Amino acid sequence: MDKPIRIALIPGDGVGGEVLAEALPLLAWAKTRGRSLEAVGLPYGADHFLATGETLPDAAFLDLRDRYDAILFGAVGDQRIPDGRHAEEILLKLRQGLELTVNFRPCTSILPVPPPTFDVEVFRENTEGPYCLQGFTEPGRAVDLAIHTEPAVRRLLQAAFLRAEHVCRPLTLAHKANVLKHGHGLWARIFEDLRKEHPSVAANSMHADALLCALVQDPGPFGVIAADNYLGDLISDLCAAFIGGLGVAPSISWAPHHPFRCTALAEPVHGSAPDIAGQGRANPVGMILSTALLFRHLGWEPEAAALEGAVSIALAEGAKTRDLGGTLSTAAMGKAIRDHLPR
Ligand code: ATP
Repeated sequence: MDKPIRIALIPGDGVGGEVLAEALPLLAWAKTRGRSLEAVGLPYGADHFLATGETLPDAAFLDLRDRYDAILFGAVGDQRIPDGRHAEEILLKLRQGLELTVNFRPCTSILPVPPPTFDVEVFRENTEGPYCLQGFTEPGRAVDLAIHTEPAVRRLLQAAFLRAEHVCRPLTLAHKANVLKHGHGLWARIFEDLRKEHPSVAANSMHADALLCALVQDPGPFGVIAADNYLGDLISDLCAAFIGGLGVAPSISWAPHHPFRCTALAEPVHGSAPDIAGQGRANPVGMILSTALLFRHLGWEPEAAALEGAVSIALAEGAKTRDLGGTLSTAAMGKAIRDHLPR
């Protein structure tokens, strides 16, 4: 028997636990197909912070880093902690501490809609840029630094080039190097270097504002889009709108250079959605498709493909939560999808 893959489960806050609950039976299903895994639930989130004052303690971080292979994450964010301190310390500590530079957000039409369908994959740098949390406020001004380092930018762009090469699709870099001359200038330079190393990729770069306009007018010419943390966040949420909204958009982050045992964190693109939390209304599709991305990351391609197929069939049969115009609860949607998994 293979050594079990150890997966940490962090439901977090709001709808995080509700959607993660629909991923758990999928882990059990993977086991029935011979996949060796062990899943362990961890309590970090707003309730734990309010009860103990702990966000993600150093010992817990080191345990995750060195004794787990991957993390399935729900969402963090809670109105009882308005400055979002716990969310920052948990999620950003994981992303930055585990060096999960590459955030992959595929946005492919899954709802049964007439063509043209939408199919754009966003590679978002996940650890730096303006989300590096280095800034300050003082009387009369507020400063947020944006840090871009050569290793992280190169790693992200290299992953995007490899993906574009693999799927034979064009690659576009979104940037604002015309104004952000230093940070985005670095992105543009490294992009040019890599373009020479990957001559088979149709690679071009666009100012992000023009790219957003072009994407809305005609997404057809786009394939893979690479961007820094901030632009990647915005572009991928816009892409999610093309495929049915935040409830259906998946993501996975990974460390391509394998610095630690734990190399991946899969989570839906959406946040904790406090407006619908606790009502059984959250769409679990983003979480379930993120689980499929995790299966693929682990090399479990048949299970990943079967899961994506089950989601497509359930949606084609009309299974829908309220955000998609249907009536199903989170749990009923999860079951409608599981009903189409091969035994
Ligand atoms: P973050 O900053 O963490 O991304 P946010 O507050 O900007 O979070 P979300 O929590 O993702 O955004 O919520 C944005 C909107 O999308 C809300 O109206 C929410 O109800 C809706 N939404 C988010 N997730 C889901 C879901 N799984 N199912 C249905 N609707 C969702």
